Amino acid sequence: MAVNLLDLDAQSLTAFLEGAGEKPFRAKQVMRWVHRNGVSEVEKMTDISKSLREKLISLSEIRLPNVVSDSTSSDGTRKWLLDVGTGNSVETVFIPEQNRGTLCVSSQAGCALDCQFCSTGKQGFNRNLTTAEIIGQLWLASASLGGLSRRLPLSDEDRSGDGIEVVGKVISNVVMMGMGEPLLNYENVVPALRLMLDDNAYGLSRRRVTLSTSGIVPAIDRLRDDCPVALAVSLHASSDTLRDVLMPINRKYPLRELLASCVRYLDRAPRDFVTFEYVMLDGVNDSDLSARELIALLAEIPCKINLIPFNPFPQSSFKRSPSERIRSFSELLNAAGIVTTTRKTRGGDIDAACGQLAGMIKDRTRRVIRLARDTGATS
Ligand code: SAH
Ligand code: SF4
Repeated sequence: MAVNLLDLDAQSLTAFLEGAGEKPFRAKQVMRWVHRNGVSEVEKMTDISKSLREKLISLSEIRLPNVVSDSTSSDGTRKWLLDVGTGNSVETVFIPEQNRGTLCVSSQAGCALDCQFCSTGKQGFNRNLTTAEIIGQLWLASASLGGLSRRLPLSDEDRSGDGIEVVGKVISNVVMMGMGEPLLNYENVVPALRLMLDDNAYGLSRRRVTLSTSGIVPAIDRLRDDCPVALAVSLHASSDTLRDVLMPINRKYPLRELLASCVRYLDRAPRDFVTFEYVMLDGVNDSDLSARELIALLAEIPCKINLIPFNPFPQSSFKRSPSERIRSFSELLNAAGIVTTTRKTRGGDIDAACGQLAGMIKDRTRRVIRLARDTGATS
């Protein structure tokens, strides 16, 4: 079968070209065409020799997921539904802001982890996305948004930063916060991250690529060694008792182990803090007591907290904490010296907000059937 060039990071592409009798430096040229220039036809790679183009055409392909739908919210948030074959589709979301544009990328068709408040989790799991399907989301979004070269005004962060980041790309940030648990698809996610960072591909700095995880401890340690991008950890509870219920993965990797891995990660992290995400569930994890527990739990860890107002979806029984409660919770954390922000809900009218991404998943874990049985919806 033809190799999909989108599956290959610099190292694999170099090996592939060497295997085809080509010089290693050709990899750089091919990567620039595919990712930087967004070219999907080898014929258009004009500065590549005819003989290499012929080899590429016979040995490889550039195969992108098909776009099933493309919708734009009243607030400018844009969502693409991508067909990833065999009846499955995943979602990618672009969130434009004044001085930056963030692309939220999916890593799996569904998710096996069954967090109680998450729409993706409730759908069950079908399969891991390939590297091509992950980086293909960035390729497609860049193409739809006018190409990588379109520039936005520079933000203050860019101007006063380390002097290296001087571009204002349309997609200036990528967050692995779409459907799926990225660290359970490690082998395909890491080459995609490397392409995001590669100067011949998307050229994003490590601090502008964030991976969000529910807390797969051994994989956090691997990521630290292999490709330490900015880390966000879905915490959502201040005690093991509650986290065990909300996020069943906590039974395998409880808070103490998870937080220890976050501290280890900080040695290599591109930012000097870890972000903890905390979904605000009315009457469940949003009391003053929870805030105080959280403060005690995180006392020794350089971190920021991002509160996410819960986004409802059809099968969910939770409610979003009232704004007043979210404000008080945030004030308690800030007063204790933990920088806390509240995520703005974006794209709610097109179901593009955090936790609303569902795509179409042919569940292979039979969760949907189990769920229906447990709730008495079927006999
Ligand atoms: N699997 C990874 C990344 C995808 S989820 C993870 O769990 O971190 C991205 C973020 O959205 C996570 O913090 C997740 O907990 C949160 N989230 C899930 N469902 C949500 C919902 N219904 N409302 C608000 N946030 C939600
Ligand atoms: Fe999976 Fe993340 Fe949703 Fe949990 S919150 S079910 S880990 S996608």
